[in-house]
Amino acid sequence: MPTTVAAYAALSATEPLRPHPIELRDVGPLDVRIDIRFAGICHSDIHTVRSEWGPANYPVVPGHEIAGIVTEVGANVTRFAVGDRVGVGCLVDSCGECSSCERGEEQYCLNGSTPTYNGVGRDGRPTQGGYAQSVVVTERFVCRIPDGIGLDVAAPLLCAGITTFSPLQRWGAGPGKRVAVVGLGGLGHMAVKLAHAMGADVTVLSQSLKKREDGLALGASGYYATADPDTFTALARTFDLIINTVSAPVDLDAYLSLLVVDGVLVSVGGPPEPMQVHSGSLSLQRRILTGSIIGGLPQTQEMLDFCAEHGIGADIEVIGIDQVNDAYERVLASDVRYRFVIDTATLT
Ligand code: NAP
Ligand code: ZN
Repeated sequence: MPTTVAAYAALSATEPLRPHPIELRDVGPLDVRIDIRFAGICHSDIHTVRSEWGPANYPVVPGHEIAGIVTEVGANVTRFAVGDRVGVGCLVDSCGECSSCERGEEQYCLNGSTPTYNGVGRDGRPTQGGYAQSVVVTERFVCRIPDGIGLDVAAPLLCAGITTFSPLQRWGAGPGKRVAVVGLGGLGHMAVKLAHAMGADVTVLSQSLKKREDGLALGASGYYATADPDTFTALARTFDLIINTVSAPVDLDAYLSLLVVDGVLVSVGGPPEPMQVHSGSLSLQRRILTGSIIGGLPQTQEMLDFCAEHGIGADIEVIGIDQVNDAYERVLASDVRYRFVIDTATLT
């Protein structure tokens, strides 16, 4: 019997989110049903529901930072049992057969992975996300949340955590490396914590110095305002790696000028508008400009285990579901310290 659960959805690009019950599929042989306890608010939720990345398929229940408890498992599920603490991130399916999936990089599935919401599942029905009481997900896309991390502070790790962990690991953040993080929001604050825990020397590049104390407490040794042009002369040719988490277009040439020879700028922010770059910004110091999207399931589990080992969770502000529209406005105003997390017990 399909189950109907309470959820919050966007019904169009211009209306606030509102209560909208959804029907979950039956638990299949490889599925687990998860009682969602907390769901983080990612800036991508806002880009999506406002159709900034192209027309969304309404109604959309956002939320891809999901933490909860397993309440039912399918007959062939082997990795999870009722009562387990689990998380679901941005993906709920992929082909499982292409070279990317075989490498455990389901985010780069050559046949197209299935996003947690605003996608279409194998059953042909729209996928719906974490601003809901529960979710049914195939076990391959479920991660175990280690006991040492609270479910509330773990939820944002499923997107903000893995999105920053993946490029930091890929490009060798560690002892002896100077890493800059552009934008101190949800992704940015996780990047600072993770890069610091990996042993890198971390600098925050924020629009202003308003959050300086926080940035230093999160593990940064330097903190500069990008509104101050002197920042770009003072830090010229300084960093081995820059992680750009800004949700709006940035001056890539200005940030590239802060890299050493062979330095790497990874842009993980998702502004809908294109960004320009001068070829000289790359060629003159053989710099690398690249991007990255979330991470595969094995790396997401590795990140969760790393966080447990290092005592890392997100810095969160827990809200009731009725505050979600206000929270969106605060995210847009860069007024978040540093992730809103919905207590889904407030959904009725
Ligand atoms: P967020 O919490 O809103 O953080 C973004 C930060 O960027 C803000 O806190 C602000 O930091 C800075 N910023 C915002 N507007 C700016 C502007 N006009 N100019 C300069 N700086 C600005 O957002 P988030 O949830 O971390 O997500 C950030 C971006 O990453 C979004 O576009 C999101 O869609 C994308 N994303 C990508 C992936 C991926 O897999 N690649 C995954 C998740 C999210 P300061 O106040 O410190 O300047
Ligand atoms: Zn996200």
